[in-house]
Amino acid sequence: MKALTYQGVGEVKVIEVPKPAIKRPDEVLVRITLNAICGSDLHAYHGRVPMSAGELLGHEFVGVVEEAGSAVNRFKKGDRVVTSFFIACGHCALCRKGNFNECVNLETFGFGAVLGSLGGGQSEYVVVPLADSSMELIPDEVSDEQAVFVGDILSTGLFAAERAEIRYGDTVAIIGAGPVGLMAAMCAQLFGPARVFIVDVVDSRLELAQELGAIPINSSKLNPIEAILERTGGVGADSSIEAVGATATVDIAMRCVRGGGTVSVVGVPAEFTADFPYYLFWEKALTFRSGRCNVQRYMRPLLDLIAAGRLHPEKIISHRMKLADAEEAYKLFDARKATKIVLTP
Ligand code: NAD
Ligand code: ZN
Repeated sequence: MKALTYQGVGEVKVIEVPKPAIKRPDEVLVRITLNAICGSDLHAYHGRVPMSAGELLGHEFVGVVEEAGSAVNRFKKGDRVVTSFFIACGHCALCRKGNFNECVNLETFGFGAVLGSLGGGQSEYVVVPLADSSMELIPDEVSDEQAVFVGDILSTGLFAAERAEIRYGDTVAIIGAGPVGLMAAMCAQLFGPARVFIVDVVDSRLELAQELGAIPINSSKLNPIEAILERTGGVGADSSIEAVGATATVDIAMRCVRGGGTVSVVGVPAEFTADFPYYLFWEKALTFRSGRCNVQRYMRPLLDLIAAGRLHPEKIISHRMKLADAEEAYKLFDARKATKIVLTP
């Protein structure tokens, strides 16, 4: 089969690799019908994830079950499915508490041996282990383009918004209008905020955010903290969502909220440590939340919201390309000339 592989920093390539096959009874083989390039793929692309040349990329995908192992109860051949970007065992102490994102046996698709040696989603086929606890059935009325983000960025948007504790009438500030920030802007609306500010430096992304109901702030032209304070009577937003993963943007997220507010960080940190403003948090009695999305908890309600016409995640797709052109697609996405790219095998 054809699959996109990591080849070195800033280098990816579609090559022919052996088609994977199920080995354990809990696994399914999925024929991928659509996949997407995620901001997290850029961490690998930039060499921040120690991958080896030839390892498979991609963790955001939908497809059709081609074969299901004998212990799989929820899925059969022919089912259209979406998969979480990581596999949780479902039986460890943390999975049993519902914290699938903190599963002690967690493995992630598309990041090579360092994150679990699963297959990649930017390919023609992938084996999904522990299928019963990792996948959801896509309703007939939901298209592949609508479902493909449910296993990653859309769930992350909802996780970020829920953990920002948004209440009706609130003012929310989202830092980053990339795909994850845009999904957070959509999901924030489910909680009834009065205003959602969104901060980025890319005009095309800010324009799309505005179409989705957010108020854009271009931080290359305005100081975003001052702009948010000014528009909230000097007190700040009720909560903020960080969807970039940089120390500078986490700092904006921490400084643009009011006393008693909540900071919800989903951007994957590009640095392991940085200064933390303890005094600010004490003085303002702030709450800090962060983490990998608990995808398994959000997939079903999100599919139901899409089926009911309450969410339109496909609106952020800017480029529809072929898997064979993935090399070019990574360049476009990395240069922020594309907001979100989906690839068909
Ligand atoms: P992206 O790289 O396309 O988007 C990041 C956006 O931040 C870009 O639009 C960029 O212009 C903007 N930005 C960068 N520096 C900025 C600055 N100083 N001020 C304002 N804006 C700035 O990526 P994405 O797909 O939107 O993902 C965002 C982050 O979320 C990544 O770190 C990704 O790994 C992470 N992520 C986390 C989870 C999770 O489970 N927590 C899931 C998916 C993605
Ligand atoms: Zn991702």
